[in-house]
Amino acid sequence: MLKPTALALACATTLFASGSAFAQDPIRISAELEQQVIEWRRDLHQNPELSNREFRTSKVVAEHLRELGLEVQTEVAHTGVVGILKGGKPGPVIALRADMDALPVTEQTDLLFKSTATAEYRGEEVGVMHACGHDLHVAMLMGAAQQLAAMQEDIEGTVMFIFQPAEEGAPKGEEGGAELMLEEGLFAELKPDAVFGIHVWSAGTTGHIGYRSGPLMASSDRFEINVKGRQTHGSRPWGGVDPIVTAAQIIQNTQNIVSRQIDITKAPAVVSFGIVEGGVRNNIIPDDVYLEGTIRNFSMENRAQIFEKLKTTAEHTALSSGAEAHVHIDEGYPVTVNDPSLTEKMLPTMERVAGKDKVKVNALVTGAEDFSFYALEVPGLFVFLGITPEGQDPATAPSNHSPFFYADEAALKTGTEMYVNWVFDYAAQE
Ligand SMILES: [Zn+2]
Ligand SMILES: [Zn+2]
Repeated sequence: MLKPTALALACATTLFASGSAFAQDPIRISAELEQQVIEWRRDLHQNPELSNREFRTSKVVAEHLRELGLEVQTEVAHTGVVGILKGGKPGPVIALRADMDALPVTEQTDLLFKSTATAEYRGEEVGVMHACGHDLHVAMLMGAAQQLAAMQEDIEGTVMFIFQPAEEGAPKGEEGGAELMLEEGLFAELKPDAVFGIHVWSAGTTGHIGYRSGPLMASSDRFEINVKGRQTHGSRPWGGVDPIVTAAQIIQNTQNIVSRQIDITKAPAVVSFGIVEGGVRNNIIPDDVYLEGTIRNFSMENRAQIFEKLKTTAEHTALSSGAEAHVHIDEGYPVTVNDPSLTEKMLPTMERVAGKDKVKVNALVTGAEDFSFYALEVPGLFVFLGITPEGQDPATAPSNHSPFFYADEAALKTGTEMYVNWVFDYAAQE
């Protein structure tokens, strides 16, 4: 684990001694721009769109970037927008990312600009809400683009603005998000030297930053197990093969994977079942049982081992009862890993922008993020920005994805300035 105080001192000493831009105050945005960011956010909040359906959002973003004079590419991975800002001086390529999609959640806040939008989701009409705060992400990055465009001549290098669709997952049968943007060649022509991202969350007080060197967020993988037995009357179990008892044994035995077989000193892991389906009547032993669950990891090595062990455990447990188990693993998002050297370099920037007392090492988070795909390609830094108002307990505030999710807009200034200062400070160090 990092010792933030010692690290910050070490960095500050080196940088101040070299007389770099770090000795100066951070770049701050004007009150007008802050107000503009708030207005963008409210407009986006009132007009949320589901994953891969961010048509209006991407139009708003693209128009703004074009007005600023950026090179703009649209329809990347369906609705994604990429803006390129070439600085006045040579230097590195720095990518900044914001995700744009909302969730199938019916908003229950009493905000004046609350969402009343609806859309079709899995064949049903649902409410749509920016319940994960991606509206704030888009607004902050639009604000950062405006600030950076105004300072274009002073920028050393090139800034790539990534407005990404479908972070919450593409609809069934569709591809999307960071993985698809990369597949379509996002980093092929212009490969960033570093990529930065911010996620707002209820677990932090407004303006507080949670960072972590190395793994921060878990990988998330979905698994399905089909347990195949042979139907028989419930009074005569010997007449068939019972997939229900076998499924129960599989659920039990897989608990041994994390608790007995994985080196937990490397990283924690989770294997959870969320669906158990089988049978129609009390006295019929059915042909099959369907199981589904999720696997979370903080180590790509453990992840591969758990995949293997889940398969072995399910198949062999079934075999011992004369049944069969077919395991399918649907690989989701990888582990989100912050590059240790980039994290160390950028820590003083975070402390100068947010305030030293507001920057803390974050605990591991078992949620997943597709920012991880970018960070597998180039050094990445992803941090949390608190949005729960001072005086309220972040532990009990409605969490991200809740219909009551509430974001304190005072955090928008911190987030916007963080993007801007990352660009200048990273370039100054290269
Ligand atoms: Zn989310
Ligand atoms: Zn999110």
